[in-house]
Order: sequence, then structure tokens, then C-alpha cells
Amino acid sequence: MSKKKRSRSGRKHSSAPASKPQPAGPAAPQPAKPAPADSAKSRKLIRPAFAVLVLLVVAAAAYLLFLRPGGAKVVRAAKMNVLLITLDTTRADRLGCYGYDKAKTPNLDALARNGVLFQNAYSQVPLTLPSHASIMTGFNPIGTGVHNNGAYVLAPEKTTLAEVLKADGYATAAFLASFSVDSRFGLDQGFDVYDDSFQEGAPFKALNSERKAEQVYQAFSPWFDNLKTEPFFCWLHFFDPHLPYSPPAPYSDQFADRPYDGEVAYMDYVVGLIMRKVKDRGLLGRTLVVVAGDHGEAFGERGESGHGVFLYDMTLHVPLIVYAEGHLPAQKTVAARVRLIDVLPTVVDLLDKPAQAGVEGTSLIPYILKKSRKNLDAYIETYYPKENFGWAPLSGLISGSQKYIRAPKEELYDLTADPAEARNLIAVEPKGADALRAGLDRLVKESLIPGSSSGKLALTAEEQARLRSLGYVDYTDKTARDQGSDPKDKLEELKMVQDAELFEYEGKYQEAAALHAKMLVLRPGAPSSYVNLALAQARMKKFDEAIETLKQGIAKIPDSELLISRLGYTYLVTGRIPDALATMTQVLALNPRSVDALTATAMILDDTGRKVEAQEYFERALAVEPENKFLRTSYGQCLAATGRFTDALDIYTKLTQDYPQDPMAYQLMGFTHILLKDFDKAIENLKQAMFIKPSPPVYYFLATAYREKGDTAETIRYLERYLEDTKGENPSRVRNAEKGLEALKKQR
Ligand SMILES: [Zn+2]
Repeated sequence: MSKKKRSRSGRKHSSAPASKPQPAGPAAPQPAKPAPADSAKSRKLIRPAFAVLVLLVVAAAAYLLFLRPGGAKVVRAAKMNVLLITLDTTRADRLGCYGYDKAKTPNLDALARNGVLFQNAYSQVPLTLPSHASIMTGFNPIGTGVHNNGAYVLAPEKTTLAEVLKADGYATAAFLASFSVDSRFGLDQGFDVYDDSFQEGAPFKALNSERKAEQVYQAFSPWFDNLKTEPFFCWLHFFDPHLPYSPPAPYSDQFADRPYDGEVAYMDYVVGLIMRKVKDRGLLGRTLVVVAGDHGEAFGERGESGHGVFLYDMTLHVPLIVYAEGHLPAQKTVAARVRLIDVLPTVVDLLDKPAQAGVEGTSLIPYILKKSRKNLDAYIETYYPKENFGWAPLSGLISGSQKYIRAPKEELYDLTADPAEARNLIAVEPKGADALRAGLDRLVKESLIPGSSSGKLALTAEEQARLRSLGYVDYTDKTARDQGSDPKDKLEELKMVQDAELFEYEGKYQEAAALHAKMLVLRPGAPSSYVNLALAQARMKKFDEAIETLKQGIAKIPDSELLISRLGYTYLVTGRIPDALATMTQVLALNPRSVDALTATAMILDDTGRKVEAQEYFERALAVEPENKFLRTSYGQCLAATGRFTDALDIYTKLTQDYPQDPMAYQLMGFTHILLKDFDKAIENLKQAMFIKPSPPVYYFLATAYREKGDTAETIRYLERYLEDTKGENPSRVRNAEKGLEALKKQR
């Protein structure tokens, strides 16, 4: 869980092709664990212990109504705690405080009522990782260099809010709900604790790994309770409203016909639990709470279900609320258009710190003070259509009341007169279009090469190439328009993708496979076409077909890390070990930091007795994912297997500190002490494991340790306990125990 800040390779983004970002969720390139059949939907596997917390619903719902209002003015204060809550996939217009009368969001509404609500906050990009990168740095996606989920890493030289606050002495922690923001993508910079354990102890994380709001709360809670120092910066990420919409009870019943609203209501309930904790500790008077959506969600408008493909308001208009008792006014609404890139500068300003140099966002304090009412220009983009479907990328600018979208078929909307964005004015208002086009060009250039808009800088060939590689061919070459089809013209294909996704969520893999096969014919150049089909085939246990599909893809796109990695994984889970090893070696040639390929290689070498070689791969994997429980546990065992007991014990000790409720590390420590002939230590550790959770191996090792100590009575006791339930135990060990017990009883 806890991890150190680590050095990175400095690569702007991985050599990985666009792997499947979450809007097309079911196609996870790395299923959760080697058991192939159950990788379909990690979500189904995660059922939180909900019953206990349900009892608190009513209390939590009413609780925040008693929040004390912020105050009348802005009072800047250094070293205030900062609690950042990001609501994934949350449309502003589905919260009560944004006027939705069917909402059940009392806690968020109370924060808004007692704080400041921004009515027109815009996400810069309708995708989870890029949007959070913008929130955390104050830069547009061009500035962060993070344009899509899964294939980009926030570079270490970028400065995050966590780094700014950590440098100021803050304790920093983040509790995440989705693989999209896994530490491997670089948002962990500056966090002392970055808890992205989705399926603790599993060797591979599925790209659709997620956890429910209460699991985030359960991870946050002990950290918060044990927090000894202030100030703190804590980021909580909730992912519930993302597809598939399946709120837990009682929201599943209350919102049977509106499951998305049910997910939002459930998330709101957990926000209430969080706020209760902060209040109970008496911290509200010195804690700044920021609530922000990362992007919205489309419900079939303009042919889109989900988010990521288009740049219309339903996926870009997000909630943004700030609350700080005694430091920010209450019942304040800001009507001007603001942006998620403004979050960092606003927080920094309220903490009375100097502004971060070069940041593209701006402090919103003048808006709260009504010193400024001017709509801020918002850059918007999405690379999802390009990187996932081979269609054209979209970018745009919202300025004044107009939104301009750069696409093969450009669009221009008047958001005031036509909030539904139904009338494209591009042909009707050429002057308006020209102004926004030029504005977008200026902004892109400025984002890419700060200072360039002053006109002093001419673009070098390298910078021009970089622009082109980012898809800004229009910028450097107005005639180059061949970027792929306009997503607007691909609605039928988009519908196929979305239908296939729904089939996968419903477990109808045959139907999903049929659609994926059709898509493959339409998009033979996209790695995701093959991966999606192969996944559906694997879920039907048609592994030979899946392997064939992936091989076809690799023949067509030989350098696709996504495809080769998927093939290696399929070999691994079907027991074709030499093929798996060879294929994972190919992945590592393309991307030496691929955690999955490093993990798989280490596992194979370990299992085949090549322990010392395995250790090297475990170490390389741990350099990327130092907090990974599976890797740490396996590495420890591998070290012990080559006699490096002290190193193994160090690892186990740290695991017991990070996972005090998990018996495994205690069990392994006990076993290692038996090997070291320190039987008292062995017994101490094994008993600790037994108190947490008794298990046959723990009894067996306890019996072993007592036998070595010559304590016959205790040996008999634990052998008897062991033999009470030996389901799943090694038969020869069971026979050994039976014989031993018999012999000991005779002796007595
Ligand atoms: Zn998201």
C-alpha cells in the first residue's frame, strides 16, 4: 500500500499502443488473475460487506444538513488540510445541487449549500486518466502529455498538487477506485500512500479493475484514524457511476429504473461517511474540501453511450464544489465557465501559497469574490476515437458562448441559445468559427511550447513533428486532413462497439464475439479489434480460437504490445508455459517496464526452479510497482527458496505492517523461522497467523515447530487440529501427519 516516490524512466508515454480505455471497458488486456473464465467482470467479484454500513445510510444522509456554512468571505490560510474527492463519470446535471429534482444526493448538496458551487465547470478531456492528470497538474492534456487511458504515463518532471503539498510538509495519501488511475500511470507522484489495491494479492490487474465507494472508504478509514500529523492532503476517487450501472442495495431497489442515479446516490452516501469522519475529528474548520467530476456520461445522446468519443457537454460539464468552514463563503454559486485545470491554482491560492509558475489553470478565488465574472476559455480534446478506433481525434475550444470542435467535419455551437448542441453553426457563422479556430491554434501552440503565442518563437521541425504526432496536423499543415473518419460518421460502428460492451456486461459472450468479429472486418488495423474478439472467445473457453485471433492480429500489427501481451497471457492461463515465456520476452523487448510481462516471467521462472533468474524479474517488476502485494509475497518466497532468509523476513515483516489483518505473511515468517531453527519465533508468528485466521498449513507448521522443540503434547494437539480438515491439502503431507500422530500417541 504505502510506497515511496520512485524514479521513473522519464518516458512520456509507454510504447504501448492504445490499450483499451475504460469507456470500452470489457476488453481488459490483463484479466484479473490466471483463472481465465472469471475475468469477465471484476465488478461482480467484489461485493463489499455492505450490510453493516447500510444501517448508517439514513444518519449519513441527514448528517451534513448540519454542516456549518463557510462564512461570508474568503479567508486564505496556510497549512489547511485538503480533501479532494473526485467523482468519476458524474454528470453535473444528475446532482440535486445542480437542479436535478430526482437526485438523492443530500451530502453533496449540503457541501454545495454550505460552500461554493461552480455551475459551469468543464472537464478538458472526457477520459479518466487524462482528466485526473489535468486536475492534479493544472495543465491541459497537451501540457500533461497524457491523452488517453492505459497507454500514457504522467512524466516524473511534471509537478502534481501532491508534490507541491508534500514539499510543504503535508502528509499525502490517495485511495483509488479504478485501474485507470493505477500508480503505474504516474499520478502517484508526491503521495506517501497510494492505495490502488483492487484485487489484493492477485498477480495481474484487469484494466477494468475497480472497487466500490465503500471499499475506498474502508481503505481510507484506517489511514485517517491513524493519521498523527497535520496538515494532510487526501485524494479520494470514486468510480461507481461508471458502466455497468449496478448500484448495491438498497439503491438497486430504490433506483431500479434509474441505476445510474442509484450509483450516484450510493456514492453520495459514502461522501457522507467521509465527511462525518472529518467532522467527528473536529477538522472541518481547517480542511478545504474540493469535489470534482472528472468527466460526465452520455446516455445515447448523439449516438454515444458512455464517454470518450465526443466532446459534447454531457460528457464535459462536471460538478465542481468547494467547501471550507470559515474560509469560504456559503451558498455561493459561480455562473462563469471554469475548468478542471483551475483546481490546483485555486487550492494553492487558498492555502496562501505563491502560484505555480507556468500552470495553465487560474485561481478561482476572484470568481468566488465576484471580482471576476468572465467565462474562461476551455480547451477540450479526445484521442479516444483515434487511438481506439482509428477515427479522427477531436479537439476544440469553448470561448464566450460558443463551442468549436475541430474534426474532419467541424462543428460550432452556441451554448447559450442551443445548450443541446443541436444546431451546427459552422456554415452559418464563418467569422465566429474563424475566431475560435485561431484561438484553438494559439492555445495548442502555447500549451506545447510555452511562450510561443507571443510570436517570438518559431516552431522547430522537431516541435512541428511533435504537433503532428499529437494529431495537430491542421495546425502545421492546413491541407492535411487525412486523420481518419469523423466519429460522427461512424455511429453505426460505435453502436456495435457499445452493444458488444453491453453483451459482455451481461455475460452474453457469443453475441459479443459475433459483433467483435464484424468490427474486426471493419477495423483490421486496430489491435483492440483482435483483443476484444479473443477475450470474448477466451471467456467462452475457446482458447485455441482466441490464440488464433491474436496471432492474426500480430501478423497484421507485429509491434503491438497489447496484442503480444494478450497472447502471452493466454498461453500462461492455458498452461502453455514455454510459449508464454517466449511471448512475454517479446513484450519486454517492446516495453521493459511492462509489469504484467515482468510478473509473468518471474512466475514462470520461479515455478520452473530458475529461482535466481526469477528474482531479477521480481525486482524489475517491483521497481515499477513497489506496493504490489502479490509481487512482494512471491519475491519473499523466491528469496527464501535460495537461502536468503533474512531478506525474505524483511519483506514479510513489511507486509505484516501493511496488511495487519492478513495471516499469510505471518505464516511465511513462521515457516522461515522453522527453516532457521528458531522455533520460538516460528511459533510466535504462526500463532499470530492462527489468531487472524486458522488454516490447515498453520496448524501443520505449528505441529512441526513444537515437534522440533520436543513438545509432544502441543505437537499432538496441532496435528489433530490439522487432521480435522485437510481439504485441499497435499495428500503426502496428510499421510505424514497421520503417521506422525500415530507414532507420538504410541510413545505416550
Ligand atoms: Zn473517469
